[in-house]
Amino acid sequence: MSSLQDHKTTRIAVVGSGPSGFYAVAALLKQQDHAVKVDLFDRLPTPYGLVRGGVAPDHQNIKNVIRVYEKVASHDSFRFFGNVKVGRDLSIDDLRRLYDQLVLAIGNESHRTMGIPGEDLPGVHSATEFVGWYNGHPDFSELEFPLARTRRVAVVGNGNVAMDVARVLAKKADSLASSDIADYALATLRSSTVKEILVLGRRGPAQAAFTTKEIKEIGQLEEAELVISPEEAALDPLSSSWLDEEGSAGAHKNVDYVRERSAATPRDCERRLLFRFLVSPVEFLADEGILGRVRLEKNELFEDEHGTPRPRGTGEQWVEEVDLAFTAVGYRGLPVPGLPFDERSGTLPNVEGRLVGEDGAHLPGLYAVGWAKRGPTGLIGSNVADSNETVAHMLEDIPSLASTETGARAESDVREELDAKSVCWFSFDDWRRLNEIEIARGQSDEKIRQKFYNVDDMISAVDKG
Ligand code: NAP
Repeated sequence: MSSLQDHKTTRIAVVGSGPSGFYAVAALLKQQDHAVKVDLFDRLPTPYGLVRGGVAPDHQNIKNVIRVYEKVASHDSFRFFGNVKVGRDLSIDDLRRLYDQLVLAIGNESHRTMGIPGEDLPGVHSATEFVGWYNGHPDFSELEFPLARTRRVAVVGNGNVAMDVARVLAKKADSLASSDIADYALATLRSSTVKEILVLGRRGPAQAAFTTKEIKEIGQLEEAELVISPEEAALDPLSSSWLDEEGSAGAHKNVDYVRERSAATPRDCERRLLFRFLVSPVEFLADEGILGRVRLEKNELFEDEHGTPRPRGTGEQWVEEVDLAFTAVGYRGLPVPGLPFDERSGTLPNVEGRLVGEDGAHLPGLYAVGWAKRGPTGLIGSNVADSNETVAHMLEDIPSLASTETGARAESDVREELDAKSVCWFSFDDWRRLNEIEIARGQSDEKIRQKFYNVDDMISAVDKG
């Protein structure tokens, strides 16, 4: 080792055990210049954030990243504290007292709203709720979706979350049976009477938020037909010039695929996915107290001050029947008591991962990674570079921690504090046991695993109660 900080060990807490949190831990434990000990906290007993609770059950290959995280967790200087909620069991002040550096990897736990009438009607849900529900996330496992009396669903937005929701609704439920999907969700999907799924993009095909891989996967479904009208696949003049001048390779591929599909003769399938472009919901309407219709408006694009094509309503409106709607218009961060918060972006204000106060000055010892740092964009792998950037700054800052009482911190161990508060925290070994139990429970149904859907059941399963 080149310069061990006066042989002192820097104690670091990472809050949030999704990809960005694990990549931050990995970077901290991999470097050789400073002695560090890292504790990773999660409000759930289970680690991996959106890899467990967000990635769709038919995308198991994406979950292979867990192997990397398991390896990180086997490091001697790593500890996991699951079922510890910051703000309930420990405050930010507690963590600042116990650790030299604190990394917020808390993701975006809420969702954006559209701000249109009827958004609160029964039958209108965020995609976050549906995704959490089919993945057995404890926050959403009690929800119910009336798929057995639903024929037409609107999915608002056309990002990859909208693709996941549309695909899960379109697929034959049996094709999900061997995955880790929640069993109640599988039963509900089996009873589904959904015939048509409208996917509503407020801009044109050139600005679609899906990746080509995801729309192609939908286009390749045997059991459902992707339908796009040639009129809506055609680019308006602004989109054409924008695509030529600024369009990414992905945007070009999307436009090509949308064109190709719009020219195909649709097959007659049990289910139809109708992808619409330049269309926005402007009002959800109730029939007998629940969602029954949606008022849609045709959009046109205009160039904003940065040259980006933005949508605006043309005034041409119409009403369509829908029984259920999912808004997949993006995630949003929630404020954390004791930390600054940027209301506009829903993130923790930071400069390259160093948290900053209102005056723009760095708040010593406080950092962010992942969606809490940059907002809800990017794939799992995008978090590697993002977390590395923050960790590089943390390491640069370690020398300025010299005046802090690292020795005193080491003595006051967080375990004592949690035990004194009777917090039923999960170690990584506890999680490993729970993991084995879930896998064993799945075997009788030939499933990858049978998840536990609430925290009390997880606690009882590993005899921690
Ligand atoms: P996203 O990619 O930002 O898409 C949000 C969508 O909502 C866009 O189509 C956006 O349109 C639309 N939207 C926003 N506000 C709207 C409004 N008021 N009215 C109508 N539409 C509105 O977000 P996401 O789908 O939540 O995904 C988040 C990130 O996770 C993305 O980076 C995504 O690629 C990633 N992800 C990846 C996978 C995968 O790899 N399989 C799966 C899920 C998620 P505009 O473009 O016009 O703003």
